[in-house]
Amino acid sequence: MKTAKRVFEGRQTPPWPNIMKCKHAFLMDGLSAQNRVSSAKAGKYKSSAFKLSKKDLLAVAENAPDVICRFDKKFRLLFVNPAIELATGVPPKAFINKTTRQLGMPEEHSAIWEEQISRVVSTGAQVSHEFPFLTPSGLRFFQTILVPEFSGGVVRTVLTVSRDITEKKELERRKEETFCFVGHELKTPVTSLKLVTQILQRKMVRVGNRLMAEDLARMDKQIDKMTNIISDLLDTTRLEHGSLKLQKEEFDFDELVKEVVEEIRKSSPSHKIKIVGKTRKSVSADRLRIAQVLTNLMSNAIRYCSDKSQIIVSVSSDLKVVTCSVQDFGIGIPAGQKKRIFERFYRVKEHEQKFQSGLGLGLYISSGIIKGHGGKIWVKSKIGAGSTFFFTLPLK
Ligand code: ADP
Repeated sequence: MKTAKRVFEGRQTPPWPNIMKCKHAFLMDGLSAQNRVSSAKAGKYKSSAFKLSKKDLLAVAENAPDVICRFDKKFRLLFVNPAIELATGVPPKAFINKTTRQLGMPEEHSAIWEEQISRVVSTGAQVSHEFPFLTPSGLRFFQTILVPEFSGGVVRTVLTVSRDITEKKELERRKEETFCFVGHELKTPVTSLKLVTQILQRKMVRVGNRLMAEDLARMDKQIDKMTNIISDLLDTTRLEHGSLKLQKEEFDFDELVKEVVEEIRKSSPSHKIKIVGKTRKSVSADRLRIAQVLTNLMSNAIRYCSDKSQIIVSVSSDLKVVTCSVQDFGIGIPAGQKKRIFERFYRVKEHEQKFQSGLGLGLYISSGIIKGHGGKIWVKSKIGAGSTFFFTLPLK
């Protein structure tokens, strides 16, 4: 603490390389690094807008609730701010010129820090990571950003800013728990509603009330949509928690593709759907989940292409994988958004106006299911010409 203060006040030479002339180099560098990032992104800020006096910088460092550290390439701590004492129970001066190993921090913890610092040093890029840490007040969660500090074009030191995110994480956990609970609670009444609707519909057909039977059929379709939304939300929560269970079994891949295509043909009779190729392989996978992926890809193909247009489902295999693709000749996906459509809740901006329903979860869930099987999922697409979604599943 005293050392840091003396360094800040200019009474002692900083123990780290003289990167900038400023005695508060660690902060100036941090700010200028951030400034570089911001400028590159926004291109509108001038560095002068971020200039602070030495006194301001000292105040920022000393009063920051976040733990601010500077490491050299040998993982030694060159600077820590007072916030470190709250997180570790150890006064700042005890850290200077020591590595986390020398300070007696747990092996796993030190290994992660060293790996992250090395990555910043070798790539020159900022990284961030989350980790649990046993503090004097119990187990807390921190999120750290590690920023490279350059001198003569190479990274000399790494500035780290660690924030306690325990409360935020707890809030997220509770939110997801509630979400899951509500989802499960909704499932039961919706299932009963569907059952009653179907019984009534059959009754109306029997007594010859055609109009009422048609209304009930429409109601049944809407209940299916509701069920799908609830299932998607529950699957999303499971994926987030890593609790989406896969029940693997051996099954004939071509048989499954045929079954799904038959189902989709029934619900979309106006589309011409063709199956090309055969794998003649059996795979070990969760049959229902793979059917869910293919159904989702085919439903999207139908949704995002014009009526009566053709859809081609192709299957093939080699020694390592089976590959399945779903090709449509629809509106296509803008190049810059092809990766993003697999993100949670992501929908292509240009499609949102025209296709208002949809949560942007189907591809996120499909991607989670395929990756959970050790497979890959990707898309090739051209605006106006259509899209082809591919997925692979590994063979034993
Ligand atoms: P949803 O379709 O319910 O919005 P998805 O996760 O299935 O959610 O798809 C995400 C987005 O990707 C969609 O909103 C759509 O913009 C785009 N997309 C998916 N499939 C296709 C396709 N076959 N053709 C064009 N765009 C597609």
